[in-house]
Amino acid sequence: MANSKYFNSKTLRFLLYEVHGVHELIKHERFQSYDKQSFDLLLDSVEDFSNQSLFPFIKDMDEHPSYFSEGKIIIHQQFESILKQAGEMGLIGATFDEKNGGLQLPVSLFSALYFIMEAANNHVTGYMGLTAGAANLILSFGSDQLKQTYVPKMLEMKWGGTMCLTEPQAGSSLSEIKTSAKPISNETFHISGQKIFISSGDHQYAENFVHLVLARIEGAPAGTKGVSLFVVPKFRLDESKLENNHVTVAGEFDKLGQRGYCTTHLIFGETGECRGWLLGQPNQGLTYMFQMMNEARIATGRMGTGIASAAYYASLQYAKERPQGRKLPTGGMKNTDDSQTTIINHPDVKRMLLHQKAIVEGCISLILQASMYVDMEMVSTGTEKDKYRLLAEILTPMAKTIPAESGQEAVSTGLQVLGGYGYMMDFILQQYYRDIRIISIYEGTTGIQSLDLLGRKATMHDGKALQLLAEEIRLEIIKASTQNHTQAEAQKLGKCLQSVQSVMKYLLPFAATGNHERFLADAGLFMEMMSKIVLGWQWLKIGNSLNVHSINSNPFFKGKLLTMQYFFTYELPKVNAIHETLLNNHSITIEVNIENLE
Ligand SMILES: Cc1cc2nc3c(=O)[nH]c(=O)nc-3n(C[C@H](O)[C@H](O)[C@H](O)COP(=O)(O)OP(=O)(O)OC[C@H]3O[C@@H](n4cnc5c(N)ncnc54)[C@H](O)[C@@H]3O)c2cc1C
Repeated sequence: MANSKYFNSKTLRFLLYEVHGVHELIKHERFQSYDKQSFDLLLDSVEDFSNQSLFPFIKDMDEHPSYFSEGKIIIHQQFESILKQAGEMGLIGATFDEKNGGLQLPVSLFSALYFIMEAANNHVTGYMGLTAGAANLILSFGSDQLKQTYVPKMLEMKWGGTMCLTEPQAGSSLSEIKTSAKPISNETFHISGQKIFISSGDHQYAENFVHLVLARIEGAPAGTKGVSLFVVPKFRLDESKLENNHVTVAGEFDKLGQRGYCTTHLIFGETGECRGWLLGQPNQGLTYMFQMMNEARIATGRMGTGIASAAYYASLQYAKERPQGRKLPTGGMKNTDDSQTTIINHPDVKRMLLHQKAIVEGCISLILQASMYVDMEMVSTGTEKDKYRLLAEILTPMAKTIPAESGQEAVSTGLQVLGGYGYMMDFILQQYYRDIRIISIYEGTTGIQSLDLLGRKATMHDGKALQLLAEEIRLEIIKASTQNHTQAEAQKLGKCLQSVQSVMKYLLPFAATGNHERFLADAGLFMEMMSKIVLGWQWLKIGNSLNVHSINSNPFFKGKLLTMQYFFTYELPKVNAIHETLLNNHSITIEVNIENLE
């Protein structure tokens, strides 16, 4: 087990096995061909790949970003070997059924593998993840012919995949989509329109691109009910020859961060006939696309966690080496040693490092938790299956948003640990600070995730999903109440759960009386409150998994205990303030108007 500079392998394995029991999944038929040793081997090989092929290039990808030249997108040359190796290692469709060319790996282990790669280099995995997501949509809703034509090449990474939703006038609100589809036959359509901000939309290391495009069939109903999903290749297969399908790359967006991960502007059907193949039924496009978006939301949170992890280990390293200041005297004794200390010995710097550690490890645990629910849904039947589906659904907007928002805070704290050097281009913290900024924007902004959490997930099936989540949290609280080292924290989290109840009791009557604007006005704050509680739950779960006998003698366990105590002492109390604001009887954000804001 190598000691990498961007994540801690021992912590990841502790979270996987001791906290979440991922290895216990192998008792289910679906995962029978694995054992713990094979999971470990996969973790080792992805760590080696990341050490050799990903981490050494992260800075260079930022300094030599993707660019547009003569109608094509050019990405960093290291991608040639990265994408080839990823295809050969089976990393693209690793969770797919074996019969579809996948490895049938649990999503939770897959999340751990991708977390390692994302911590090493967050500019890379999007190319792979989008290709897998697009292939999975074709497998779920496509005809046999579409599956045979596209999926094998995509799993090898010879053909790339994309997700084409956004248009200049249709961002958060996809009901405004204008790209149009004119029928040629029942399955084939002429596609015309444009899509912006398309990640991984073109590059020199794929022979073809398979765009999954949301478009409106002529005469379809207005709004989201009239949106269909199409497979639109860059080159279409015509009697086994690849022909130009008239998907034009109009440009590359110049970005703040993730500069190695291209973001393209695509135009369909401007230079000639662009054909698209309908996926599934007409007007069901958004429902289908939600499959990919839900996977992508957990993946986006995982990516934010990876960046925050890399930033943590970079700032920890710096704090261990930077001499500055002297230790303050303790216990009324004068400090006779006048030599400089390294900054890691100052309590305020330790506080910043604990803040980062609490967020990074709490978020890894959260991503594994959400992934475990997806796995459990897959292997369960009946009411158990429904339970895990609802738990995965309610946790998804939080698994996206918590690493995005608290991850940004953690990276910013990490930059602060470096003082002035953190602001300098020579050190990587500034890059992580820029890279992580996108996580709260794409795959649905924090605002949209918060509306989803409060407006849809917390209320669906008469609040059943929220109730199931509260039960999961309560189970950890009960367990923690019986142990000395977690008792106090259990009590604090129990009180926070009561706060959620009182907020719902206060807000739900607004929805019941049709005042949805008021009901959802503070959805962002509700998300913030839930974020603290959900991270607290994960830290309590970590606390419950510690070996009681070696907590004080083993620095690894002691570190986990102190970080849990840090979270409950410094972060969880913020729930009280947010709770008070959520119960406010003003409607400031509704009342304020444009003139007031001038
Ligand atoms: C680098 C990058 C890569 C991307 N990759 C892809 C991709 O591969 N495929 C793709 O299809 N798209 C992609 N996107 C698009 C991305 O998903 C959108 O940018 C995002 O969903 C927000 O849409 P918008 O930019 O139009 O902002 P807007 O929708 O205009 O939102 C602006 C602000 O208003 C808020 N807001 C909007 N509507 C509401 C509402 N109803 N209630 C409350 N607040 C609201 C938002 O939260 C946000 O703060 C990418 C974007 C970027 C920047």
